[in-house]
Amino acid sequence: MTNTPQTTILIQNTRVIDPASGMDQVADVLIEQGVIKAIESGISDSAVDKVIDATGMVATPGLIDPHVHLRDPGQTHKEDIESGTKAAVAGGFTTVCCMPNTDPCLDTVEVVEYIQSKAEQVGHCRVFSVAAATIGRKGQELAAISQCDQAGAVGFSDDGDVIESAAMMRTVFQEVQRTGKAFMQHCQELTLTKNATMHEGEVSKKLGHISWPRVAEELIIERDIMLNTGINCRYHIQHMSSGNSVHLVDRAQKAGQPVTAEASPHHLLITHKAIETLGTAAKMNPPLREAWDMEALRKGVADGIITILATDHAPHHADEKAKSMAQAPFGIIGLESALGLYHKALVQTGHIDLPKLIELLTINPAKLCNLDSQGLGKLAVDGPADITIIDPDHKWTLSTDDLVGKSKNIPFLGWEMTIRPMITIMNGIVRHESIV
Ligand SMILES: [Zn+2]
Repeated sequence: MTNTPQTTILIQNTRVIDPASGMDQVADVLIEQGVIKAIESGISDSAVDKVIDATGMVATPGLIDPHVHLRDPGQTHKEDIESGTKAAVAGGFTTVCCMPNTDPCLDTVEVVEYIQSKAEQVGHCRVFSVAAATIGRKGQELAAISQCDQAGAVGFSDDGDVIESAAMMRTVFQEVQRTGKAFMQHCQELTLTKNATMHEGEVSKKLGHISWPRVAEELIIERDIMLNTGINCRYHIQHMSSGNSVHLVDRAQKAGQPVTAEASPHHLLITHKAIETLGTAAKMNPPLREAWDMEALRKGVADGIITILATDHAPHHADEKAKSMAQAPFGIIGLESALGLYHKALVQTGHIDLPKLIELLTINPAKLCNLDSQGLGKLAVDGPADITIIDPDHKWTLSTDDLVGKSKNIPFLGWEMTIRPMITIMNGIVRHESIV
């Protein structure tokens, strides 16, 4: 795929929503040579290669997902950089940040460079690496944090695993703090979650599955906030699942600590009851919890405590998900359906409005990963032309035809949505157009 934009594109008569600048007005957007040349009314369409009539549509900065698993290198039967970024642009994303649980582990400059160069060759959108904080994500020895930082890693995490040792966690905070990037924690206390497959509650009792209490997440958040006191590394909580965790984050933020948190579509929309009907299709890490947790997370978004949305796109082959509850892997995919599901959970329920939703999907994740300094997550004249054109009033039902990545493991098939990304432009080139 060529990355050199040759065309000029004019997006006409669209509602431009750019939360970074506060812009929310109907205008035209002119793109030339991969950058935004103008955002204003009445731009002439002479000498333009492509005109997009976006009447009734919304144009936003390209969406950014700071938490995806592209499975590349190592598990490319599930997903790879080409297929994962194809799913991303189908979902309106122009930037994704991939997690380090690859094989080999994303803990060296070589793997950071491999991902960068493969994304440039075959990727449909921008890909940035979140590198491991410890070698092999084993929590024993520090990884090459400063070298990976220099090579372009946009954050650090052992995602898939927690950093179990408090001593190692403190060292990681000190090391990552020097880079100015964020450490992103997968919050799972291990002694409370051994062999656990689902939330501890009435459903786990009924089905007899080994259960996973909320406190396993809360303990790690509390521990990390305490360990980070005085170090002040930017601390980000991944895929928050417990309603109680929202209060812990709120308290730390009010105390002035640099703490952020993300929520995923599934924790905002379905509960542990889904395991009864869907089985392993609803097996996640952290697990789906109860209705009040879901409501507390939504309210956490409305109250400005959770400021980032992330899919935790986790592709798995159907054969693996067909195994027993104990043996099947955790996780679901999420890129193609994310916008519709977030909208259903947060906007249709009246928790936030559309511009706020766009903020949580653009400038906020850009800031988390220091990408705002590259002009990403916003619409600015002379800035990169990463733009998502959304139909805010488009009814559709999620089917396997909409899933363009390699894996189809998602519990939302058949769900109706009312908003859809229609055209995804990255670096001034149309990378995806929904044919409907
Ligand atoms: Zn995780």
